[in-house]
Amino acid sequence: MPIYEYRATGKGCDYCRGGFEVKQRIDAKPLGKCPKCQALIRRLMSRFRTFVAETSDEVSATEKKVREFEKEGRWSHAAELADKSGLEDRARENYRKAGYEL
Ligand SMILES: [Zn+2]
Repeated sequence: MPIYEYRATGKGCDYCRGGFEVKQRIDAKPLGKCPKCQALIRRLMSRFRTFVAETSDEVSATEKKVREFEKEGRWSHAAELADKSGLEDRARENYRKAGYEL
């Protein structure tokens, strides 16, 4: 499961102000609010970490899937998947196409 880092967009609380990490399924919705204080939070793109797929089979299967999403213009899907798989450059490019600010 990928680890996502979130940080409060505003003041936040002690928990979210400095950023915190959440392990989430790849198909889970990104969090919008701090679970402790309900402040708005955003997912950080610059410091995300991932568990990289363990076998080369997994990697190539994932890359294939990413390519399919790209072909269909589903940038955020492609980005999420690339993100999960440790394909950081690919993820960044697709997030940009999806309209995320990086
Ligand atoms: Zn908070």
